[in-house]
Amino acid sequence: MMTKPIDHVRALAEKIGCRMIGTPGNSAAEEYITQAFQKAGLGVERMPFSCPAWSAEKTQLWISGRPAEAYANAFSPACLVSRPIFPLCSLEALETADLDGKVALLMGDLVRGPLAAKSFFLKPERDLRIIHLLEAKRPAAVITVNPALGTHWRVIEDMEFTIPSVTVPLEVGLALASEAGNRVQLHIPAQCTAGETAHVLAHLPGRLPWSVVVCAHYDTKVDTPGASDNAAGVAVMLALSERLALQKNRRVGIEFVAFSNEEYDPTPEENVYFKTMSAGFENIVAVLNMDGLGNVASTTTLADFSGSAAFQQRGEALRQARPGVARTEPWPASNHFMFYTHGVPCVAISAAGPGVWHTPADLFSWIDPQMLDSAVDLLADLAAELDSRDPQWSRCQDG
Ligand SMILES: [Zn+2]
Repeated sequence: MMTKPIDHVRALAEKIGCRMIGTPGNSAAEEYITQAFQKAGLGVERMPFSCPAWSAEKTQLWISGRPAEAYANAFSPACLVSRPIFPLCSLEALETADLDGKVALLMGDLVRGPLAAKSFFLKPERDLRIIHLLEAKRPAAVITVNPALGTHWRVIEDMEFTIPSVTVPLEVGLALASEAGNRVQLHIPAQCTAGETAHVLAHLPGRLPWSVVVCAHYDTKVDTPGASDNAAGVAVMLALSERLALQKNRRVGIEFVAFSNEEYDPTPEENVYFKTMSAGFENIVAVLNMDGLGNVASTTTLADFSGSAAFQQRGEALRQARPGVARTEPWPASNHFMFYTHGVPCVAISAAGPGVWHTPADLFSWIDPQMLDSAVDLLADLAAELDSRDPQWSRCQDG
């Protein structure tokens, strides 16, 4: 009997839970995915690479002796400090501030949203300026205020940022802002060692020297069960692999890739997958990527990238046949990015909806099984179409 996508989501998001790189959850997910591909009869290849294994239990912050909620920014070094707080709410204030021996409190215009990692290929200049100023001024620690009420994001998530830092909820930020010059105590009991993670590749051979790449990332950010982002995408991929493995006599091969470290990778061009890709970009007929779908209150979306007009029209027709799927503008992120920027036609299945991604609220209980089944059907139709056509059909002929 075929495994339903929802059962894969249950296994990955509920039984395993958080799958951040370098954690036991990440390894358990890799193992689960490997077994699922093997069970479907596919040859599996492991592509390991090193990563930080970071954790920080029980971060503690006290304002005037009172405990306040704070969570360590991902990859923050450990610290134990008692220093005056220095509130900052503009780039100009940061430029002129003397932060030596202080705890910098970043709020307002300095934390409109997460600050991009230093090496991130799409980083805004302004984010880089803020990070460089902090590094030059070396405060004892940095507290970033979460600008959105009721969410649980981290403002800094950068393996290369070496100043201890935490994010605090908005209400804690407000309390801290009124304590300028007073001491705060901050304890981040973080640990970071050398770790490892791996992409998992599985193959369905075809007669022609061409392949379709079907991919989804299985890692998550810290402390989220990652049900829609992206246990759901992996679940759709695994269900699709099981279904397509039953179809014999394939013309175009299929390579399934369960990517790791999508969430914290600032430099996809350094990704071991792209560095060791056996067939070049020119031998890939198309890429089907799934990321962030399935929340019951969301709408499944389809975007296409870099394909021929015929490929786009077929994708659009398949979408229109499913009233629950909306069209969305191409979005430059996730695992399709490297492919379409190298001329490979891509379809990305995602969702528009509630902002639960990267939070503890991205729960299995909010995944709609039918949305996943429908995505598998759509992608199976697209895969069948790609197999029936000339391998050049999907590609833009002007290169
Ligand atoms: Zn994702």
